[in-house]
Amino acid sequence: MARIAVAGFQHETNTFSPVKATWEDFEKGEGWPALQRGGSFHSAFAGMNLPIEGFMKEAMRLRHALVPLAWAATTPCSYVTEDAFERMAALVTEDLKKALPVDAVYLDLHGAMVTEHLEDGEGEFLRRVRAAVGDKVPVVASLDLHCNTTEKMVREASVLIAYRTYPHVDMADTGARVARHLDMLLKGRRIQAKAFRKLPFIMPLTVQCTMVEPSGGVYRFLESLEGGPVSSVSFTPGFPQADIADCGPAVMAYGDDQASADRAADALAKHIVEREAAFVDELLAPAEALKRAYAMPAGKPVVLADAQDNTGAGGTGDTTGLLRAMLDAGAENALLGLICDPETAARAHQVGTGRTGTFDIGGKLYKGDPTLSAEFAVEGLSDGQFLCTGPFYGGTHAKLGPTAVLRRNGVRAVVTSKRMQAADQEMFRHVGAEPKTARVLGVKSSVHFRADFQPIAEAVLVVASPGAAPMDPRTLPYKRLRKGVRLSPLGPTR
Ligand SMILES: [Zn+2]
Repeated sequence: MARIAVAGFQHETNTFSPVKATWEDFEKGEGWPALQRGGSFHSAFAGMNLPIEGFMKEAMRLRHALVPLAWAATTPCSYVTEDAFERMAALVTEDLKKALPVDAVYLDLHGAMVTEHLEDGEGEFLRRVRAAVGDKVPVVASLDLHCNTTEKMVREASVLIAYRTYPHVDMADTGARVARHLDMLLKGRRIQAKAFRKLPFIMPLTVQCTMVEPSGGVYRFLESLEGGPVSSVSFTPGFPQADIADCGPAVMAYGDDQASADRAADALAKHIVEREAAFVDELLAPAEALKRAYAMPAGKPVVLADAQDNTGAGGTGDTTGLLRAMLDAGAENALLGLICDPETAARAHQVGTGRTGTFDIGGKLYKGDPTLSAEFAVEGLSDGQFLCTGPFYGGTHAKLGPTAVLRRNGVRAVVTSKRMQAADQEMFRHVGAEPKTARVLGVKSSVHFRADFQPIAEAVLVVASPGAAPMDPRTLPYKRLRKGVRLSPLGPTR
């Protein structure tokens, strides 16, 4: 039995987004569990699809003793403030020093955190944890698939292991894999050689989905490389909305000897680079997407991904480009969500169900898209509290605050008071807007929606409406990217 300190600090930073992540945001969580310390870990994460939950369960099954330190996360947005980073780093390292001696440390990290003062948030976080325990103690971490992995992260951690699915249905499973890997290290296979390769082009989020090719095949190939002397292989396609030198895809391999680790990393890098052309993406203008959707057979909804206002990638959730296009097209039986606009939701609650009012929707946080002012009927109201039931958010108790369904002609929109990515059918159903019977269903999500919505969809089309998470990296005003990296598959360099 080993004594394992566990902690977590998760943020996906869209440096092009307008809203920063403050200490208060991490304290509240917003869409994630609130800040947790010590013993509260066991109840706070129970049953959730989170790496820390998967790690703790598996480590306890393997009869290790856990020492919970601190864990915090918040919704993706712009830079983490220096204050928030330093407070969290201090909490974890001080609690860790009090807990010493420990046999190992597990960290639940995202890997794409950028702070006001650090390009590589996790690299620095890992460095401080490593400094607290010394070189001999294994420090292992799970990473989001959207990690912008850096050399420093690889150097400071004993082993890094990333998710293999996008939508991330394997977050808890990844935590469990890290626990088994750590158990192996603790039982004697201690020294693991590392190989790390950055790839030469940035990969748009929409082509990273593992439910479609070529990304699905990349992960099948990755799994075939593990075994024998190769203990773990990871591929992190990266988070493009980050203006940092190390933005973009990377592969990592760990093994009993350097040659084995190098061989696995090189084979995986080659497999991906050879398929560069297959990663080129198609984004549709909203009007074109609607035209194609209504030309398809009726019966099951055609899902339109409003990918650039994905609140899971730093979108504000308050753009109305797709809603406006639906109204302009005179769309029939169209449903869209989730628009986050607390003022509109509050007004709908004042107006009341069955009554009509003029609403000024969106355009409050993201300035690249105007407010939509029009008359809508209030069709449904809720307090925004419900249990998510789909494969991605399943088990999560959503608390979105006052929520409303607004209708204008054949178009309905679900408006909430808090931001959450539209990746669970219950987000619509709980307030009386059944997603399965919509002809066209707009979701503010890039890929995570597919876990719950692809099974009920006639087809999925990805739409380019305005938003703070541009999906085509060629349109992003990068200044700090490393030299030579292509801005998209087969795209130009800057
Ligand atoms: Zn992710």
